[in-house]
Amino acid sequence: ALKCGIVGLPNVGKSTLFNCLSNAKAQSANFPFCTIEPNVGVITVPDPRLNKLTELVKPENVVPTTVEIVDIAGLVKGASKGEGLGNKFLGNIRECDAILHVLRCFDDGNVVHVDGSVNPVRDKEVIDFELQLKDLETVEKNMVKVQRAAKTGDKDAKARLDIYEKLKSYLEEGKNARGLELTEDQQLLVDEMFLLTAKPVMYVCNVDEGSVVNGNEHVEAVKKAVAEENAEVLIIGAGIEADIAELDSYEERQEFLSDIGLEEAGVHRLIRAAYELLNLQTYFTAGVKEVRAWTITKGMTAPEAAGVIHSDFQRGFIKAEVIAYDTFAELGSEAACKEAGKMRMEGKEYIVQDGDVMHFKFNV
Ligand code: GDP
Repeated sequence: ALKCGIVGLPNVGKSTLFNCLSNAKAQSANFPFCTIEPNVGVITVPDPRLNKLTELVKPENVVPTTVEIVDIAGLVKGASKGEGLGNKFLGNIRECDAILHVLRCFDDGNVVHVDGSVNPVRDKEVIDFELQLKDLETVEKNMVKVQRAAKTGDKDAKARLDIYEKLKSYLEEGKNARGLELTEDQQLLVDEMFLLTAKPVMYVCNVDEGSVVNGNEHVEAVKKAVAEENAEVLIIGAGIEADIAELDSYEERQEFLSDIGLEEAGVHRLIRAAYELLNLQTYFTAGVKEVRAWTITKGMTAPEAAGVIHSDFQRGFIKAEVIAYDTFAELGSEAACKEAGKMRMEGKEYIVQDGDVMHFKFNV
């Protein structure tokens, strides 16, 4: 399953955000280290297109697509050296496909800050530094493995050593591996190491309810600090959203959201942005038994997309019947699309487009 890890210093609002995002209940209290067990939650990706297809097809069953969220606590200054149970948690980050880095951008005197004052840019650097140290350790271990062979003239080992050395000095400058410009071949060598600072990241600025729409000076500082990294910055009010999530009815929740100036829950925006960050898209199958959203990586071919359903579908792939989502929604049914000549037959080379409604033909 695709996994996003939530990281950040203690008391920045990680578990509050996690609670908004997932059905699992993580404990949240005004006390550093309250979330010492990594928590995993599965969230459904909100998608109005799935609702529309359901309305049109009226299937027996509806299955949305999901992303796994892991709340990774215990990262503090010194984590890479084992402080505050940090080392254990760094391992949890390695298993994630992307990182949501939560930064405290709210001033609330009642909530203790581990470093005494609110400064999200400093906080980001503290976490980054720990991840960079861990990556340095990984890179250095790999260097030792190839050093001898590189000396004896082994070409592959030499290429590896070159890139490891480049990475090492980059990390030592206090930079994250994701920023290093590499050739495709070099990128493959770096990917093998699953470096923590190479993972796609989104900075999540946690603000008070008055700043959920326009942000505040802390958010501006974060944006400036990460401009070079070319990373996403998202504003969210985890505290207020947690309160809103407690309300029973959808109407009530929408009313409160619009009171603070939002059209939809920030967590929905966050999930979609995370999906984007992971370079993912959705295609649909829409039968009377089941309407379902499937997650694929952008650029996947029709057989690869079929393989997400079942490996047999990929192996025996013959062709796919494809209707663009907009056409399906407009004409209202598969039969109507077929009649209008809007159902396409696509072969093995077809690159699946976001929102395609697909039906696969395959040999068993
Ligand atoms: P974690 O240690 O990063 O998981 O932080 P928590 O989610 O446990 O939050 C720490 C404290 O900050 C809790 O008392 C939360 O209620 C509070 N908190 C979280 N988000 C916000 C927010 O957006 N605004 C305010 N004022 N308090 C928040």
